Amino acid sequence: MTTLKGLFLDELADMHDAENRISKALPKLAQAAASEELKEALLEHLEETKGHIEKVKQVFAAFDEKAKSKECKATVGLLEEGDEIAKENKDEPTVNAAIISACQKVEHYEIASYGTLVEWAKLLDNDEAVSLLKEILEEEKSADEKLSELSEACNQEALSGADENEDEESAGKSKSPVKTGK
Ligand code: ZN
Ligand code: FE
Ligand code: FE
Repeated sequence: MTTLKGLFLDELADMHDAENRISKALPKLAQAAASEELKEALLEHLEETKGHIEKVKQVFAAFDEKAKSKECKATVGLLEEGDEIAKENKDEPTVNAAIISACQKVEHYEIASYGTLVEWAKLLDNDEAVSLLKEILEEEKSADEKLSELSEACNQEALSGADENEDEESAGKSKSPVKTGK
């Protein structure tokens, strides 16, 4: 018989794999981004993602289990799409909007998964697991909100086409890809 605990541990192993894949994909997506702010946000989330890997391991430990990984086919697919859409929009004014759309799909998958894991950990009466999983969930939600904020300027950039002012000068500076006129 499969128990809720077995189901929980399987899903946790899936997210362990997902987080590892995401931590490998984020530097590439940051490199593909043409907005300094977006690059920074993705690299910041990379650091959080490394923390998620550690926290997922701690959740296994909270259940006295060895950390396991199980291929997350959804993340494989979402990241493949991300890679594809970044390539298709390379050097185009749509590149940042495209990357954000792909990243938000990943964040939503993580939010759904950790939301479920939090509820299951509550039912399994493991307070330590609940609080670790909630911490991850909150960071996924704020990463998603940050991307929504950044998407406003990036979507405008995509809408209005090539912006001649977007060049290498902005490298290293935190600057919006679009002139806001303020
Ligand atoms: Zn994560
Ligand atoms: Fe999965
Ligand atoms: Fe994430």
